[in-house]
Amino acid sequence: MSSFTYHQFVYGSDNYGVLVHDPVTGQTAAIDAGDGAAYKAALADKGWDLSHVFITHHHDDHTEGLADLVAGVDVEVLGPKGDKPGHAGITTHLCNGDHFVFAGARVEVMETPGHTLDMLNFYLPSEEVCFTGDTLFAMGCGRVFEGDYPMMWNSLSKLMSALPEQTVIYCSHEYTEANVAFALSVDPENSALIARAKTVAELRSRNEPTIPTTMAEELATNPFLRASDKDIRAFLSLQTASDAEVFSEIRSRKDNF
Ligand code: ZN
Ligand code: FE
Repeated sequence: MSSFTYHQFVYGSDNYGVLVHDPVTGQTAAIDAGDGAAYKAALADKGWDLSHVFITHHHDDHTEGLADLVAGVDVEVLGPKGDKPGHAGITTHLCNGDHFVFAGARVEVMETPGHTLDMLNFYLPSEEVCFTGDTLFAMGCGRVFEGDYPMMWNSLSKLMSALPEQTVIYCSHEYTEANVAFALSVDPENSALIARAKTVAELRSRNEPTIPTTMAEELATNPFLRASDKDIRAFLSLQTASDAEVFSEIRSRKDNF
């Protein structure tokens, strides 16, 4: 049973920010801080006071507004360690397996490197919510910039084993329309995917978000989580390959799609 209130908003061209608010303690966490003005406007809109920021990774579109957002307020900023510009302002450094308490709820920290080497995902088991940053998207996964394909496959496998199907997934970008087009190119007979493509087209035609998603939906439709699926393997002529090899083929096709 969720006890927190979630507010998702758009910034930049396709980024999502999320505020997590506990009505009992009044504490509010921001997921990332890519745009100080957009986050402050979202806080003002809801009438919430910021107490925490959870940083997923160092990229500018997730960190550029941090200094502006926390200026003059008493905020704990939790995130990865590192010496990139985006790491400036993080006050509590986290690594894999760490946990902390936000407004009475346990937050489990998972490192999911691949897109970047510093990527953290934040899982709140009591809320059945996970913030996957640029690791897991709706029907997609992050482009692999700093790690390699097997590393990204490991990270996605970690999410698949840690997160129950009902887990609500908040990710950081509205890439779903492009992702579903690609997904259909490698998994064209998947009826759940075909149905979801229609839902996505309807939502986007009204400029509505396709995020959050759920682990169950992703397991059924996200080709990057479906490396063991026999239809995808047959489609790619990779029946005897390892899951990591199938994932790598799918990821490289997406890079060139
Ligand atoms: Zn990124
Ligand atoms: Fe990003």
